[in-house]
Amino acid sequence: MLALLYVLPVSAQTPASYTSADIFLQLKKLKVLGSVLYMAAHPDDENTRLLAWLSRERLYRTGYLSLTRGDGGQNLIGDEQGIDLGLIRTQELLAARRTDGAEQFFSRAFDFGFSKSTDEALEKWGKEKVLSDAVWIIRKFQPDIIITRFPEDSRAGHGHHSASAVIAHEAFKAAADPNRFPEQFKYGVQPWKVKRIVWNTFNFGTTNTTSNDQLKIDVGGYNALVGKSYGEIAAESRSMHKSQGFGVPGSRGTQLEYFTLTEGDAAQNDLMDGVNVSWSKVEGGNAIDAQIDDVLKNYSLTEPQNSVPDLVNLYKTLQALKDGYWKKQKMDEVQRLIEECSGLWLEATTGNEMAVEGDSVRISIAINNRLGAPIQLNKINLDVLDTTLSMNLEKNRNVNLQRTFYVFITKPISQPYWLEHKMSDGSFTVNDQTLIGKPQNEPPYQARFDLVIAGQSFSIYKPVLYKHTDPVKGELYQPLAVVPSSTVTTEPSIVIFRKGEKQSAEVAITVTANKKFDNYKARISKRLTYDNSTKTDSNFNMQPGMQRQYIFKIDNGMLKEKEQDFVQAFVELKNGTEEQPAYLNLNNIRYDHVPYIHYFYQDAIKVLNIDIKTAGKKIGYIEGAGDKVIIALKQMGYNVTVLNEKDITPLQLKQFDAVITGVRAYNVHTYLESKHEVLMDYVKNGGNLIVQYNTSNNISSVTSKIGPFQFAITRNRVTDEKATVNFVLPEHAVLNYPNKITAKDFDNWVQERGIYFAEQLDPAYETPLSMADPNEKEQKGSLIIGNYGKGKFVYTGLVFFRELPAGVPGAYRLLANIIALNKKKGF
Ligand SMILES: [Zn+2]
Repeated sequence: MLALLYVLPVSAQTPASYTSADIFLQLKKLKVLGSVLYMAAHPDDENTRLLAWLSRERLYRTGYLSLTRGDGGQNLIGDEQGIDLGLIRTQELLAARRTDGAEQFFSRAFDFGFSKSTDEALEKWGKEKVLSDAVWIIRKFQPDIIITRFPEDSRAGHGHHSASAVIAHEAFKAAADPNRFPEQFKYGVQPWKVKRIVWNTFNFGTTNTTSNDQLKIDVGGYNALVGKSYGEIAAESRSMHKSQGFGVPGSRGTQLEYFTLTEGDAAQNDLMDGVNVSWSKVEGGNAIDAQIDDVLKNYSLTEPQNSVPDLVNLYKTLQALKDGYWKKQKMDEVQRLIEECSGLWLEATTGNEMAVEGDSVRISIAINNRLGAPIQLNKINLDVLDTTLSMNLEKNRNVNLQRTFYVFITKPISQPYWLEHKMSDGSFTVNDQTLIGKPQNEPPYQARFDLVIAGQSFSIYKPVLYKHTDPVKGELYQPLAVVPSSTVTTEPSIVIFRKGEKQSAEVAITVTANKKFDNYKARISKRLTYDNSTKTDSNFNMQPGMQRQYIFKIDNGMLKEKEQDFVQAFVELKNGTEEQPAYLNLNNIRYDHVPYIHYFYQDAIKVLNIDIKTAGKKIGYIEGAGDKVIIALKQMGYNVTVLNEKDITPLQLKQFDAVITGVRAYNVHTYLESKHEVLMDYVKNGGNLIVQYNTSNNISSVTSKIGPFQFAITRNRVTDEKATVNFVLPEHAVLNYPNKITAKDFDNWVQERGIYFAEQLDPAYETPLSMADPNEKEQKGSLIIGNYGKGKFVYTGLVFFRELPAGVPGAYRLLANIIALNKKKGF
């Protein structure tokens, strides 16, 4: 991949611009033939200051391998979880890399949430699979040294962290071993020996692993060509992790980084001790180094285009070298510099965000040789279009062309490559070895410009981008997505039937046309395990954007003895012989700090047929940082009212059987501090306040009082979703009314049991449950209940926000009991 160095593009897709100082720094980089790979587990683990310093001060080719995409993290900016969050964090990481100048890689490992042990992480990921990925990336990237963020033991603080160090260490050895992963060699890689692997020790306040006898390097300098210190660049890079709330201030002055050897040759004074990072390591390299010196000496800040002929000569000299890693790398860099020095503008854009299969796309091509370097444009190629021009590009003259092409039905849709196949619990499925490690897909369409610059032929590729102007945000460039001719959604997301009663519900299948359909016939199928049915629409005439909804009736008889099933939809669209099947829905994720994200999934309705009783009807919900609990509550039959700050008054609250706060509500709404008394009065008068988890960590802590009696929110959690749940108070109402809770209700939970448990409890709290992760002591803080006046107060770290959308029956039954706590007398 090409790293866009030294620039801070406003949005990820906006074409980069380069000042003469940016270009000068890149010219200097031509002299450096060294590379470093940094390795850790998650987006945000990386040391952005060190990466910025390696990439821009030392001018090494610098990479960060994050084993996972951070799918299991928290989300402070929206309600995306799991792979959706991983997609956002992938883009945040790429935004960080555009800032610090490093390149980005991933393995197939899935971030399945907090893990307490290295062994659990390696087992769930599939150690050989992830090791193979790390070895592949090392063999391709060929780093001189590897730096890990974490040690291989518990000082790493998270099972994924220590596991990332284990993988790095083993990959260091395996990459050099021709007997390890030999199946990779047919894809063009060879064994690669890394000089050393070191651990970048840290002082995180609670854990200090640095010491004076370690290798120390000051990375706190100032880069005059960038106009920033490495601490300032690092802060901008780290602040891209917005979903994690990692905005940090810039720093100036000395900043020491510490390193200790894991394996390989020890370094005494410098990370690169004993590594030749100059052209002298390449046959014929000394002459090239001298040639680069001449380019640097003659470089003009005001007329960078004057360097174009010299750079073209340098390119030709490189071309004559024996094939090898640095030849290829430096030829790419020189070509980019020729483009930048000439001020050449090349773009291919469309006014549509989507290229629809079976429809056409109109492309605008814009060319401008802004500084008048000697450039001839011969040809433009785009998909099946070839345009021969053979024209001299005059200085600062706009050349504009319009072209339209057809998007074949066989054109692959823009599905991120790691989501193309069904994943396993701990890792993504990617069958194409050559895709492993890549941060994202290649753009679906690229324009190739064939040029002759100072007598030498070059082909420059530009992705086709969606370009538009927003009245507030200005000119925007976004990725172009290839989508199917129609998309299919289902609703509602969950249907809950009460077992034993004959119940039915209506479900809807909606087909959205993404292009025009004339005289098509649609066949819409609804599928349950034991019940399929179809409808035919012989008049499927649709304009782009039009939707048609088809209603089907389901009942709990169709589930037979199943407690949980799914409704899925399949649609066939036919016009004579042409047939277009449809079953995928498009998910758009949009935030300002990253490019638009698109991916496809098959929508489904979760259908539960469970023995569930509820007591109470009206629920007030104070939304937190984002969760899908309200949808579940409505399906359970409650009337849910969303409460804002102004609604939290004694008169309003009085009407509710229970008031529930969304996840992290006390973290995101500081106003709740001033509502404590009102909420406690509501409880005292017979209400039931149920507080879902809030966090206590370096990102945000709760200052407000939450309950009627003291308790502290800790970072304690039970991550094993199969951990045994013990009933400490088996007679307690919460385990008996209106539903009898048994061990079975804790079957099939997903990801974890609970997080941010309560501790240091006032004795007034009851703790009906206890649970523990393997080899840890029992914890009682997952669910605490306080009797206050005539009402109840509940704090729970149990992850209802995950289990309810996942359709876990026991989570519904337990939540119904928590809501009913103030209804049952005598407990
Ligand atoms: Zn981490």
